[in-house]
Amino acid sequence: MYAHQSSPVKPTIVVRKTTIMKALVKAQAARGLSIQDIPEPTIGINDVLIRVLRTGICGTDLHIYNWDDWAKRTIPVPMAIGHEFVGRVEATGSNVTDFHKGEIVSGEGHVVCGRCRNCMAGRRHLCAHTQGVGVNRAGAFAEYIALPMTNIWRHAPGIDLDVASIFDPFGNAVHTALSFPLLGEDVLVTGAGPIGIMAATVPRHSAARYVVITDLNEERLELARKVGVTLAVNSSKTSLAEVQQQLNMHEGFDIGLEMSGNPNAFRDMIANMAHGGRIAMLGIPTNDMSIDWNKVIFNMLTIKGIYGREMYETWYKMTVMLQSGLRIDPVITHRLHYTDFEQGFAAMSGGGCGKVILNWES
Ligand code: NAD
Ligand code: ZN
Repeated sequence: MYAHQSSPVKPTIVVRKTTIMKALVKAQAARGLSIQDIPEPTIGINDVLIRVLRTGICGTDLHIYNWDDWAKRTIPVPMAIGHEFVGRVEATGSNVTDFHKGEIVSGEGHVVCGRCRNCMAGRRHLCAHTQGVGVNRAGAFAEYIALPMTNIWRHAPGIDLDVASIFDPFGNAVHTALSFPLLGEDVLVTGAGPIGIMAATVPRHSAARYVVITDLNEERLELARKVGVTLAVNSSKTSLAEVQQQLNMHEGFDIGLEMSGNPNAFRDMIANMAHGGRIAMLGIPTNDMSIDWNKVIFNMLTIKGIYGREMYETWYKMTVMLQSGLRIDPVITHRLHYTDFEQGFAAMSGGGCGKVILNWES
């Protein structure tokens, strides 16, 4: 049995004085969220209790806020939501020897089963029975969160707290971007949402030649320019064929990072890839999506689906890239107190924002 699984014997419960905390809760099966007083989580022998300091709002949280069909099917009510966070270790279970009170940590948002073939082989990011923090189990939009010790990432000294709080989506971006070798390649990123923009920072850092990012939203394209892409292109105004001409490219993009979930963006990408081009696909289409399979076959394209991030190789790579000069802080556009969460969700709905951070410190 993996250390993080609940033990069949009754776990030791660490009793703490304060038992009520503030949390941002999906309280009812309806649109919206509310701040409520709920019991602080208790920890078992293999768990870590974390005082949450900052959280990031993810597109997933917006789906939960809006209570769309996916959320209705997926989210148990009532439950504290949220999975992007940084916090300070508050207490540890009796089996936990390598995390200590006061350490700055984030949590991997996928709690894996530990028993399936992939988990047993050490490929935990491919777990067949993964549980999502703030999706299938209590989330991080709260003063405290408890997680199995195997889900904890200790931050290196000097990582900015706001940046640390978005290691989860940064991890989506980095895992997608590092799916294929980037040295010397021409890279197309479709979708300049927060994750697309963070993904666009990686190819330059990895010595790619060109990084082109597309979106339909000018504010987001402007944000993308701040992280240093070759071109940020409004695909409703400029075609990728024109972009290729402008950059004196002749054979198409070598690497595609699909970050929009939009069928037109994906079809456009497929049509503009070089022979043998490789596509990593993170964007989630809302419906069935048809593509021209002839292009995939005759242009010999590879398409790889991406979910989450690697435990914990992606976390390591994020850390060392930040330490060697990668900057993602321009993608953070809103820093709010958690009690102003409505403002944060409104900004997310408007689509003009980058990452929205909620502060839980006081
Ligand atoms: P987002 O919705 O903020 O960004 C998507 C962007 O794509 C938006 O800026 C939108 O304007 C743009 N877009 C729409 N149509 C376009 C088109 N035709 N051409 C170019 N751009 C277009 O999302 P995000 O938070 O940055 O996440 C990116 C994607 O990744 C989303 O689809 C999200 O659901 C998905 N996601 C997947 C995983 C995973 O593990 N697979 C994890 C997190 C997010
Ligand atoms: Zn598993």
